[in-house]
Amino acid sequence: MCGIVGIVGNTPVNQSLYDGLTVLQHRGQDAAGIVTIHDNTFRLRKANGLVKDVFHTRHMMRLQGNIGIGHIRYPTAGTSSSSEAQPFYANSPFGISLAHNGNLTNADELKDWLYKEACRHVNTTSDSEILLNILGHELQQGGRFELTPDDIFKAIANVHKRVRGAYATVALIIGNGMVAFRDPNGIRPLVFGKRETEKGAEYMVASESVALDACDFTFVRDVSPGEAIFISEDGQLHSKQCAENPSFNPCIFEYVYFARPDSAIDKISVYGSRVEMGKKLGEKIAKEWADEDIDVVIPIPETSCDSALQIAQTLDLPYRQGFVKNRYIGRTFIMPGQEMRKKSVRRKLNAISTEFAGKNVLLVDDSIVRGTTSEQIIDMARAAGAKKVYFASAAPEIRFPNVYGIDMPSATELIAHGRDLDDICQLIGADKLIFQSIADLEAAVAVANPDIKQFETSVFDGQYITKDIDQGYLEKLDALRNNESKELSDKNADSIIDMHNEGAE
Ligand code: AMP
Repeated sequence: MCGIVGIVGNTPVNQSLYDGLTVLQHRGQDAAGIVTIHDNTFRLRKANGLVKDVFHTRHMMRLQGNIGIGHIRYPTAGTSSSSEAQPFYANSPFGISLAHNGNLTNADELKDWLYKEACRHVNTTSDSEILLNILGHELQQGGRFELTPDDIFKAIANVHKRVRGAYATVALIIGNGMVAFRDPNGIRPLVFGKRETEKGAEYMVASESVALDACDFTFVRDVSPGEAIFISEDGQLHSKQCAENPSFNPCIFEYVYFARPDSAIDKISVYGSRVEMGKKLGEKIAKEWADEDIDVVIPIPETSCDSALQIAQTLDLPYRQGFVKNRYIGRTFIMPGQEMRKKSVRRKLNAISTEFAGKNVLLVDDSIVRGTTSEQIIDMARAAGAKKVYFASAAPEIRFPNVYGIDMPSATELIAHGRDLDDICQLIGADKLIFQSIADLEAAVAVANPDIKQFETSVFDGQYITKDIDQGYLEKLDALRNNESKELSDKNADSIIDMHNEGAE
């Protein structure tokens, strides 16, 4: 998963882009980048690492200009694009720089086509560089030096025709302005906002509304699926629906885990949806565990806290914090290799024994992926003296890989893949286990926006909304997602990024 921001202002944008990326840091901790336009020239800084480590004063000083975009990256394993920092740059036409959140499902085909038919070379394994070149190609087809907003929208309509998958995108075009667009299913989120200054309006686009808040922009609206928004260098806003058959299918996992609770995506408060998930799951527990003897509900920090509190309230049980999180350690998921991952759960969380001793506890997590976290946490709860350990997941069983930009392990590594409830319960060592149903999860999220009739829920049901995913694609993904290939592509990262940074150091 990645995060993107873009601003067209009338004052320098470097600090706001930095602030925007910082509040989106939860969407990716792997690499960060900002590009601005100054004197018709791109100024770029990108490197591996957290936002606070990538940008030093000397970089910020060089990132001059009133227009710019930024990106933070979470390696989207399986596309082999895990190693390239964004934004990317292409010199033709005009000079374009692009940042992308999502994953293209026909990337191989497009890369081949670009080389053979459009004479465009893609120098990395990133699908985002492919998207940049497709956009470049389509802009070039217009054949005009002076682009009108309609020329840009026509180019994006053609991008939608060629490209499949998930893409929330922001791009700068030298001499023209900034364009932001969302795939025709609206799988990945994209919002835009406005800020009035003495010199006129400034505009910002971002993956989540929380970035607008942090930069003092007022939320205007979500970018619609298939829509493009173009803001010219002199601050004129234009927008157009560029997809032939747009459909509204946002990724439900944004609400389950990825997005910050203080964001609203597609008119749905992420926090509110997590509370609803807790309500639904609490009701399911009350119904299915008639003889429940739970003494206390304990969340596995932090994402699950909002749902866990609501479960406790629904069941009329006490809610207590039983685990303390070390804030200064990275997410377990991003550690290479299973052994590292196992150790880091212990390094990340510690149990408060008094909350467990002699009690039947219900532990709540937002989701179970590999099951490593749940297994170890259940062990920790028992070691801290719990009598019985029950486990509830606010999301349904994750059984299928994600092909739209969420870093999920290969299907075979998912604990729920090909297993039923009892198998999973036994493997993680719980006394009882319960998952949210898919219908309840959808209802919990949709309650705030009934216009969304179908979410992108493939990790739970294997139904891929773009309808282009076959067994061959999944097998290829599976091979790419094994640990070996991930580590290899990470090792290759440095040389590629060094090359892109020439002149930026
Ligand atoms: P696991 O040990 O693999 O079952 O990890 C489950 C935990 O990982 C849950 O507590 C989630 O909060 C978190 N999680 C879920 N999906 C992801 C993801 N795609 N990347 C990183 N962490 C995740």
